[in-house]
Amino acid sequence: MFDETLEWPFFDARHRELKGLERFADQDLQSLIQQEHDGADVYAIAPQMVKTLGAGGWLEHAASLDGRLDSRSLCLVRDMLARRSGLAEFAFAMQGLGTAAITLFGNDEQRREWLPGVIAGDRIAAFALSEEEAGSNPAEMLTAAHKDGDDWVINGEKTWISNAGLAHQYVVFARTREASGAQGLSCFIVAAHTPGFSVSASIDVIAPHPLGSLRFTDCRVPADALVGQEGDGFKIAMSVLDVFRSSVGASAVGMARRALDHTLLRVTQRQISGASLGSFQLTQDKLADMATAVDAAALLVYRAAWVKDVVGGRTSRVAAMAKLFATEEAQHVIDKAVQLFGGLGVVSGNPVERLYREIRALRIYEGTSEIQKLIIAGQLLRSHAESVRR
Ligand SMILES: Cc1cc2nc3c(=O)[nH]c(=O)nc-3n(C[C@H](O)[C@H](O)[C@H](O)COP(=O)(O)OP(=O)(O)OC[C@H]3O[C@@H](n4cnc5c(N)ncnc54)[C@H](O)[C@@H]3O)c2cc1C
Repeated sequence: MFDETLEWPFFDARHRELKGLERFADQDLQSLIQQEHDGADVYAIAPQMVKTLGAGGWLEHAASLDGRLDSRSLCLVRDMLARRSGLAEFAFAMQGLGTAAITLFGNDEQRREWLPGVIAGDRIAAFALSEEEAGSNPAEMLTAAHKDGDDWVINGEKTWISNAGLAHQYVVFARTREASGAQGLSCFIVAAHTPGFSVSASIDVIAPHPLGSLRFTDCRVPADALVGQEGDGFKIAMSVLDVFRSSVGASAVGMARRALDHTLLRVTQRQISGASLGSFQLTQDKLADMATAVDAAALLVYRAAWVKDVVGGRTSRVAAMAKLFATEEAQHVIDKAVQLFGGLGVVSGNPVERLYREIRALRIYEGTSEIQKLIIAGQLLRSHAESVRR
């Protein structure tokens, strides 16, 4: 099915060449993926995955010195990696999410300083937007930065930060003006060794990945740590999410494909009362629903990526549709896989049991499903109001 996806009109020849990643992952990443599946410490494995992806040149699709991100490449890489490993996909995605503000809004010096190490896989990146009281509503964040001479001094706490403790550099959003809500936010780059920066907690989640909270105590960064203009922070964060939300959808598609791969193997091997499980029509009902959901989700994801790359501008509605539908449907696909595995489906370490845990957070991070619905409906209502006024 993935080969068919590559034939869709959304893609150019250079996108089809990305298929080489499948062989790279099956060879060069295989032993790390096996260690992940055997329960090795994610804090030890994730940096090795970043290094391996960097050495293979794949991180060039996560960040770029020319200031552009190709949304279709980003989605294809996430789709292919998620079909094999949640952690490899996470390792790739965070190099992009943790630097997209710099790629898209940084100046040349910032890009030259902060991106090459990330693209090579020598440095790990993180994106610090969320706070305990400001998750779905980042405009209400409390972390603040004030000017002191030429420097900025940051104070506050962030939580739910992927790669906290592993990252060498963090893109951090903080309030720089008294202006309420979204108006007063700015974006900074903070190196992990900066005095006043610390990792205040690590957080264990159902599908382990490096995650924690950050504290900024009079954390002083130079003037050139500011990305874009002062006050641009909210616009930068939302523009980054416009690109990355469809790619979360791509990750969900890859996980759903993995569930379908395992299910097809299982239902053709499992014999019940002398017949294969796959020969029962109720099984075929589930298989048909699973395959249709995967394709429908992939269509929305790659439509959003194509709109971003080819039409351009803000693409919040199509990105929200892609993330919402792909993550919700992947949850259903994986649930059906667990059901078809029977008791084995809930045994710890079984591939579909692992997927059942891995998929859950995708409906929450980078904006919950409910927030995606608010974005879609909000834009519909605004367009309707404009068309009535015309
Ligand atoms: C595994 C994981 C990794 C993450 N990684 C990062 C990261 O790297 N960087 C980062 O900055 N953040 C990260 N996050 C944070 C993530 O983006 C937030 O968890 C998410 O935005 C939700 O915020 P919250 O947890 O505060 O939930 P809340 O905002 O408290 O929401 C709770 C519930 O209320 C609902 N809700 C909220 N507002 C409304 C509304 N207006 N109408 C209807 N329902 C509403 C939500 O949909 C949700 O169901 C991560 C989260 C997880 C779980």
